[in-house]
Amino acid sequence: MKHRRLGQSRRELELSSLERITQTPLSDMSARLTLTRALTTARTFTRTTASSKPTVQRTPLVARVALRSTTTSVTSSSSTRKMSTAATADATVAATEPRWDLEKHFGFASTNDGKIDEAMKDVEKACEAFKSAYEGKLSSELLSAIESYEAIEQTLTTVLSYMSLSADTRLMDDAMQQRKAALMQQYGQASGNYLTWFGLELADLSDADLDAQYAKDEKLRTYKPYIDEVRRSAPYNLSKEVERALTVRSSFAGKGKVVEFYGNELSRLQFDLDGKKVNLEVLLAKMTSSKDTMVRRQCMKTLNNGLKEFERVCALSLNMVAGSWHIENKERGFKNLRSSRNLSNNLPDEVVDSLLSAVATTGVDYCKKYYTLKKQILKSTQGLETFTWADRNASIDIGSADDNYTWEQAVDLVHKGYNKFSPTMANMFLEFVEQKRIDVPAQDGKRGGAYCSSAYGSGPFQLLNFTHSARDVATLAHESGHAVHFVLSYPQGILQFHPPLTLAETASIFGEMIVFRDLLEKTPSDEDRLAMIMSKVDDIINSVVRQCSFDKYEEKFHTMRAKGTVTPEEMSKAWRESMEEYYGAEGEVFDSYEDTSALSLYVSHFHNVPFVSIVSRCVDASFARLFCCFASASPTSTDSRVVFASQYVYAYAFGDLLVGSLYGAYMKQPEGFEEKLLDLLRAGGTKDFVEAVEPFGLDAASPTFWSDALHAHLGGLMAEAEELSKKLGYSS
Ligand SMILES: [Zn+2]
Repeated sequence: MKHRRLGQSRRELELSSLERITQTPLSDMSARLTLTRALTTARTFTRTTASSKPTVQRTPLVARVALRSTTTSVTSSSSTRKMSTAATADATVAATEPRWDLEKHFGFASTNDGKIDEAMKDVEKACEAFKSAYEGKLSSELLSAIESYEAIEQTLTTVLSYMSLSADTRLMDDAMQQRKAALMQQYGQASGNYLTWFGLELADLSDADLDAQYAKDEKLRTYKPYIDEVRRSAPYNLSKEVERALTVRSSFAGKGKVVEFYGNELSRLQFDLDGKKVNLEVLLAKMTSSKDTMVRRQCMKTLNNGLKEFERVCALSLNMVAGSWHIENKERGFKNLRSSRNLSNNLPDEVVDSLLSAVATTGVDYCKKYYTLKKQILKSTQGLETFTWADRNASIDIGSADDNYTWEQAVDLVHKGYNKFSPTMANMFLEFVEQKRIDVPAQDGKRGGAYCSSAYGSGPFQLLNFTHSARDVATLAHESGHAVHFVLSYPQGILQFHPPLTLAETASIFGEMIVFRDLLEKTPSDEDRLAMIMSKVDDIINSVVRQCSFDKYEEKFHTMRAKGTVTPEEMSKAWRESMEEYYGAEGEVFDSYEDTSALSLYVSHFHNVPFVSIVSRCVDASFARLFCCFASASPTSTDSRVVFASQYVYAYAFGDLLVGSLYGAYMKQPEGFEEKLLDLLRAGGTKDFVEAVEPFGLDAASPTFWSDALHAHLGGLMAEAEELSKKLGYSS
């Protein structure tokens, strides 16, 4: 269970560099909103990204599984050893595990079903009719326009979710990929030509016109959260003509192409490891899994040297990205560097500032305390003399628990963990299993990682790559939390069921937490418990503190860029400063920061989605991929993925810390908690973050909200870890 996040966060936070995430034209705020709506219907959530990127898809399954296992130690050293065997073995048994039954749930015979083409033709006509019926008439016919729009979205969701999910288990099937791409392109054209105007016009509608319609028809009020969301972009929208021009240009020129170039170059990088050429992912996996600090340091040196050869290219591309971000924000009138991102997330700048400041103080204290403890444990268990940056993600190698779960055992563990907290959630979980809504095995030709697709009207569906590790059990608990959330919120309708991004990870992370806690309670060995907790904290620190250090670096880079071109030397300097601000000066906790000067170059968020990294524990690759296809009028390839996750990633810091707070509230007052949490989930997208947490006695506007959350989330786990470590004689 525990190490899932360790491996995962490493992949997510750092390997995301390899993802070819291209950004949605930031430009088009209104189009974005329209498309976002379209997308909520097919949004998916990914827990891991490394294996969902193209390079990994080409890796043979056994290698892929072995790689996963190296980053996934579970309850012990021996478990790590066992894992490779188990993981390799499951490549052969994988096919016997349950697959999802998309045909049954979507009602298509196959992806070549003629019904799909008919539906797309009809929807194209509907889009055209929608434009001609309602453009310029929203001031009097808003309700009927929204209802038509909903119907269009429902059809698109059914067809495109089905195609996309099907294609994710058949990545090597060129005909299938081609068909999916063609349908996505068809959607892109229709949307660009006939739907984009809608968001812009709705945003521009006068309050008086809107109020008059609310007064006239009570039903329109049920769409208020959706209407409000679209209208928030109004002050920053440019004229229809300019927005259209920006959108049309974006797939041919500008930043997107530069980001794509950077991503391609990065994924082509090869490093010399033990005389063999390996890619970034293999190198990083080796660094995490190795129990020998000298090997880890050698990997770090290899990594840094390899990246240095890439620094001129990267400096050029990042200068371009930051320059364009800067100028566009100015044109649109955003107050500061992060404002456009915060607007997308419906968060006041102050809330984000207060999150950043709590992490920079309280979070950093925990971070230093944690790595000091980790250093002591590694010194005791691996004979380390100095603790370097290369040791940061090293697995704690103690305990004796096995790490080999059958699918049935995994289902049982998640069911029991859920059931202890909420029989409602536990029953829903069993239904997902019984109704064949989960695609379980890890197989060649299947998208890596894991996600849960909402697929409104037919969903939810979970894609897993189950390799029998404890980490996979945690992933099942996580994705099933998303599925529960979707099902509970579906009654809010296709435009409003999706939770705001700040709440989107609540059920998933909570689901993981209850299963983690249940397992922890059942684990008798102190060594195993310590290893589990260390892994959990490792992951929380990586997702919260490390991401904020990324944000700091970004702020430095963008500030410099506003004044002129930034050189590679200046980049290295800013990177080092950000590290020191969050992890302490060299010698304080880490004895050495050797070979880290070029590490910023593989953090692809800086290119892909400026100012999102503070929360990006798991960039939502599948969602992003879908979005790309949805958003781009001419997707260049099926694996290019646009991250609208720019909008998404906040969800993880918020999710992590919020769940910490919620769990704290649950511990204090278990009575009535379950029902309150289910109500929060049922609200879907109709409540914002602040409203949603009120019933739990949490005040998101309080200046101590985030530091309290950090104490609740990290404080308890750290205290347990320190106590166990002392008891076992690793620290004093
Ligand atoms: Zn998630």
